[in-house]
Amino acid sequence: IWQAALCDLKEKTSSHNYESWFQNIKCRRREGRQFFLEVRDEFQKAWVEENYLDLIEDSLVTVTGASVEITLDAESTYASKAQHDDVGGAFQIDVEDEPVAARMARMPEEMGRVQMPAMSWDAPAAPEAFGDLADFDATQPAPKAFEERLVEAGLNPRHDFEEFVVGGSNQFVHAACSAVAENPGKSYNPLFIFGGVGLGKTHLLHAVGIEAMKANPQARVVTMSAEEFMNELITSLRQKKMNAFRTQFRNNCDVLLIDDIQFIAGKDSTQEEFFHTFNALYHSGKQIVVTSDKLPRDLPGIEERLRSRFSWGLCADIQPPEMETRIAILEKKAEADGIELSKEMAILLASSIRSNVRELEGTLIRLGAQASLLGQPMSMELARQMLDRMDIDQRNQVNTPRIIEVVAREYGISPVDIRGKRRTRAISKPRQYAMYLARKHTDDSYPRLGDEFGGKDHTTVLAAFKKIDELIEAKDPEMCSIIDRLENLLLG
Ligand code: ADP
Ligand code: MG
Repeated sequence: IWQAALCDLKEKTSSHNYESWFQNIKCRRREGRQFFLEVRDEFQKAWVEENYLDLIEDSLVTVTGASVEITLDAESTYASKAQHDDVGGAFQIDVEDEPVAARMARMPEEMGRVQMPAMSWDAPAAPEAFGDLADFDATQPAPKAFEERLVEAGLNPRHDFEEFVVGGSNQFVHAACSAVAENPGKSYNPLFIFGGVGLGKTHLLHAVGIEAMKANPQARVVTMSAEEFMNELITSLRQKKMNAFRTQFRNNCDVLLIDDIQFIAGKDSTQEEFFHTFNALYHSGKQIVVTSDKLPRDLPGIEERLRSRFSWGLCADIQPPEMETRIAILEKKAEADGIELSKEMAILLASSIRSNVRELEGTLIRLGAQASLLGQPMSMELARQMLDRMDIDQRNQVNTPRIIEVVAREYGISPVDIRGKRRTRAISKPRQYAMYLARKHTDDSYPRLGDEFGGKDHTTVLAAFKKIDELIEAKDPEMCSIIDRLENLLLG
């Protein structure tokens, strides 16, 4: 249940907040409706009580469908985690990185009512975070457990190839990832994985790293999101440790896995540094794998020289899974989490949640948690209620990517076609409908829409909108019926 609540919290807060405040909370025991949660230390306890108790309660209520009571306790090993420095009544506490340190430093005043002793916050120098990895030596007397090494390399041990269900929608990208993991730097380099949210990009990226480390225990794998890359860069610049930063990436890395590269759009100095990192690794035959929500050429705000390098190797897209694959994924997750899943339930979930595996998985876990709380098998009735609620949430959420998705699906083409440049009638008509709908139903400006539609000029969007708007104003029956039908799909 607590795991399901954590999933829910993860969706409700920023990932940074989640990692700082929720991820490490453990559920020690539960007595009926009362949950005994354990936090790392008194500081976290005070902060969470002050700011996040409602949010946690909310998530537990969502998951259990009943009212709950929460008791927070600090772990007894507090003293060993934080170095308690009594001198002058100040605490010295090590935190993971500079942005956290900066936020922590502001906190005592933000905390207002809570009484805190004076504190200072120190982030470790960036290279130390990878020191162990760089210095790893297979001959050392007590080799670290494999899983521990994966985590040190930034990998999630659960995201391996065995856990990944292969179907038509991801067969190609899966094959590319396997080839790369087997022969880093020698098959497709760079490998560029792109596709919509929740479709398994991060999972596959990690699977490559895990497999590469399995195949070659000496392989030095570095995994991070583009955002983390930028944060480390900033920290290193500030602490004047750029040499260490460059060594870490350029000399101490055989496989570089970068998630969500679209994040560095418009961030020029990060792009500059990444460009040099890329070149150094590429020219010494090291493997680079990058994920993104779009094709390189459709990435707005990324320099041409980087976009062209991303296309040097192989670009593989990942599509929403088909029905059979969705069912197979549900069955796999249910087995892994010990959830009893009937065929009927699998079909209901898989036919209702089509375009996001994360959501599919989250719904299964929530239903499983409810069932375990009630001590009953999962109920179809509860499942339908939950799906109805999600449907309403989705309907209220009209944004341009969703419009593109809905229109593409209706016309049997892919969102990539709509964002692309091809102008056959079968593509350009739906593209214009989508542009019209996006302008009408979102607050996006024309230039913004140009970006959303794959980096087109804003005048293209404007022209499409005008053309259709005039036909609608003139009550053109064909156009009215097309737009009506699409709006029905979009707004329900
Ligand atoms: P993305 O990075 O594309 O947004 P993720 O890789 O985070 O998506 O995937 C979201 C969730 O769905 C993860 O928990 C992942 O394990 C799961 N998932 C996605 N595709 C598959 C698949 N084909 N088989 C098993 N699990 C999958
Ligand atoms: Mg991801």
